[in-house]
Amino acid sequence: MAQIIDGKKISSQIKEELKEKVSVMKQEGKTICLAVIQVGDDPASSVYVGNKKKACAYIGIESLSYELPADTTQEKLLALIAELNGRDDVNGILVQLPVPAHIDENAVIRAIDPGKDVDGFHPQNVGALCIGQRGFVSCTPAGIIQLLKRSGIEIAGKECVVIGRSNIVGKPMALLLLRENGTVTVTHSKTKDLREVTRRADILIAAVGKPGMITREYVKEGAVVIDVGIHRNENNKLCGDVDYDDVAPVCSAITPVPGGVGPMTIAMLMLNLVESAALVR
Ligand code: NDP
Repeated sequence: MAQIIDGKKISSQIKEELKEKVSVMKQEGKTICLAVIQVGDDPASSVYVGNKKKACAYIGIESLSYELPADTTQEKLLALIAELNGRDDVNGILVQLPVPAHIDENAVIRAIDPGKDVDGFHPQNVGALCIGQRGFVSCTPAGIIQLLKRSGIEIAGKECVVIGRSNIVGKPMALLLLRENGTVTVTHSKTKDLREVTRRADILIAAVGKPGMITREYVKEGAVVIDVGIHRNENNKLCGDVDYDDVAPVCSAITPVPGGVGPMTIAMLMLNLVESAALVR
């Protein structure tokens, strides 16, 4: 029977630990504040932003909310970011992505002070991860490392295969596994004979963005399978990149969707925020 890696439980543990830390920091006179900017009113983005603000409130972190109309100019958005960069009372700045098409996403990411870039998307933070220096790390892959460690799964020396090479999941995931001394292979849409590669994995991370694509033919018996994908199936139920029912019987541990990787992303955002406040002030 595969171990089910419970992301809900592990993210709750992390939030409880942070709540305690924040309460101690408050007693020392340190407050933590996240500025969240949303441009437009995309319903999915509004849900994500709402969840982030809720998590802040639970842990004891203040949040400032900027809901800008969809036709906000890039100049106006960059001016707001510059103002927030300069405010001592703001520890973290988050611009909910995607931004409307007339705004250059990379310019927005670059405009955020790397010391306040709690999403870990700024090139300086990505570069720091690459060369093993301290910096903010993209929340979803950082959450996966926590899931593995807190479930007692050893990474060092293991064959780790990442399916997907996006800037927010696949690439930082590979770098983090490498930092943990895994032997890492990154695969993508041009990989030849994907199954042959993924079947070598002791730890398989699926971040391919294709519902149910990873069936047991892609998985070595006894592997640990981490499913990053989030989709709605034809019955409007949440599902991942992994065909859970097919894969669970052959692996040693697996994350469900929902309740696996998803809850970890916000927990790691909160961790980044608390760390930024502890470092700076
Ligand atoms: P992207 O679409 O940016 O990247 C998908 C990657 O998969 C690409 O590198 C692509 O390769 C690769 N790929 C696509 N098709 C194949 C294939 N047939 N074989 C091998 N590789 C393939 O997605 P993201 O990384 O942003 O997200 C991945 C999934 O994770 C999505 O379902 C997303 O919703 C989910 N997600 C979940 C989060 C969470 O909190 N749980 C957070 C972020 C994302 P190529 O580069 O060659 O195009």
